[in-house]
Amino acid sequence: MVKHNKPVGYWKRNKPFEYRKAGETVKEQLQEIYAKLDIRPATYEYGERVLDGLRERFAAIDRTAEYNQAKVLEAMRRERVSASHFAATTGYGYNDEGRDTLERVYADVFHTEAALVRPQITCGTHALTVALSANLLPGDELLSPVGVPYDTLEEVIGIRESPCSLKEYGVSYRQADLTPEGAFDYDAIRAAIGPKTKLITIQRSKGYAVRPSFSVAQIGELISFCRSVKPDVKIMVDNCYDEFVETVEPSDMGADMVVGSLIKNPGGGLAPIGGYICGTAECVSRCAYRLSAPGLGQEVGANLGLMPALYQGFFLAPTVTAGALKGAIFAASLYEPLGFPCVPKAAETRHDIIQAVTLGSPEAMSAFCMGIQSAAPVDSYVMPVPGEMPGYDAPVIMAAGAFVQGSSIELSADGPVRPPYAVYFQGGLTWYHAKTGILLSLQKMLDANLTKLP
Ligand SMILES: *Cc1c(COP(=O)(O)O)cnc(C)c1O
Repeated sequence: MVKHNKPVGYWKRNKPFEYRKAGETVKEQLQEIYAKLDIRPATYEYGERVLDGLRERFAAIDRTAEYNQAKVLEAMRRERVSASHFAATTGYGYNDEGRDTLERVYADVFHTEAALVRPQITCGTHALTVALSANLLPGDELLSPVGVPYDTLEEVIGIRESPCSLKEYGVSYRQADLTPEGAFDYDAIRAAIGPKTKLITIQRSKGYAVRPSFSVAQIGELISFCRSVKPDVKIMVDNCYDEFVETVEPSDMGADMVVGSLIKNPGGGLAPIGGYICGTAECVSRCAYRLSAPGLGQEVGANLGLMPALYQGFFLAPTVTAGALKGAIFAASLYEPLGFPCVPKAAETRHDIIQAVTLGSPEAMSAFCMGIQSAAPVDSYVMPVPGEMPGYDAPVIMAAGAFVQGSSIELSADGPVRPPYAVYFQGGLTWYHAKTGILLSLQKMLDANLTKLP
């Protein structure tokens, strides 16, 4: 008979085993466990001092999360979500109650007539491509009033030549750049809206660009302006990284479609794949025909057993997003006093979960990413090194050790290794994990003599 009462290997590897000291405080235990994670007491203490100044802002984030949690719960109650909705379907996926109910839950939360939420949407770029190509026909024009869109969309639109781009199908593109201050250039936008303008795409988050991310209120103003120039124009918002950051979404401001990825905020870290498009019944049904086939639309598409992850992930998304937001603010508040410029600045209001930190040298980028990587629950022992990536003109360094590959709602950092040597930091499934990752990034910077504590 085999006895399994002692994890023998553990005792051998960790000799001598230390019993807890009597009367030890949680704070001492924290310092001890952080030391095991290679974060020294001085670094931890600096973090605590920074945190003391963030209590009010964290409380405000908690209130937003509380509201959004109730909003999701209310939608799940209204749609009478039940265990039967978690059943897997295969094949065509006809009469998939779980899938259809999830789509109604999304529509309720985004206050839209309809929603398409599918594992068959492979990523954010795919969701945006479906939304654009379903609602633009040959001869139509697409307009971006917020400058150049996210890198991957350049090929979708045909700004960079690519097979099957919208351009190849006869859809033209125009762009109105932001003002040098990063504001909407209303004159340029008015001039750019013409008889062919069919759809306007608004990217809320800055992506890899150096411009501010927009609040839902600002997006609302832009939507009203565009409609005042052309009342029947369709408006799509790229909502990647922005869901649940505020208590309202762009669909509350009249956007016809709001689009995003399930391996970012709304998947709550649990969705292993997927994308969503919430919007008017007219736009969303066209998206469904584009995604599957004309005549089939929303009625096909098996859920492949992913419903528990998609429901539960959406349920957790408000608190996961809140944790990521706290992490972004903590990172900026930690690094800014050390002389590293941050976008957004530590004190600025947030409209997405991305934090850019300008580190000023390739060595500092490596050290920062090394810290994030070694704080990962998966692949913590791996060393990130810069590598060539399609679509980028400089090597890119990436740190991520995620349960879902490539998921950027999980703790991650990346950036092109070129001046000004900025890393884009985001995610963290829990605030505590984000905190650990950021402290460890700073520890690696300190260890390499790239910065000093104040
Ligand atoms: C991530 C992102 C996308 C593309 O999403 P993928 O899932 O990487 O294809 C598009 N727009 C913005 C603003 C994003 O942040």
